[in-house]
Amino acid sequence: MTKKNIDQIKLISERKKPFEACGFILKKNKKYLTVECENVSDNQETNFEISNKEYLFAFKNYEIISIFHSHVLGDETFSKEDLGISDELDIPMIVYSLKTNNINFYNPSKKRHNKINSFFQKEKAVVV
Ligand SMILES: [Zn+2]
Repeated sequence: MTKKNIDQIKLISERKKPFEACGFILKKNKKYLTVECENVSDNQETNFEISNKEYLFAFKNYEIISIFHSHVLGDETFSKEDLGISDELDIPMIVYSLKTNNINFYNPSKKRHNKINSFFQKEKAVVV
């Protein structure tokens, strides 16, 4: 994952305001892609939900590096639901708060995602 991915998450999140944006950081052929998904939640101002169809497509065709979403009204603190999704799927979670402009990162399985961890340790300026 590169800083470009983080910048793209910020752009996508700004565009989606006042609704929460969501999507994936995907990897294929050593390239990292930022892919926006449709937020299918009934309450898009405060929640996000990615359809099973989009999860399945990502699982089948790419390595899923992270799920991302934005918080429009809240800060970058993860909700219990956010952490639950990340733990259940064993996929790291990124959240961007439009209120504080901060990015937060959660890693449910440090062993499996060493590379991502080391990236974020190097790029401390990006992750607050
Ligand atoms: Zn959230």
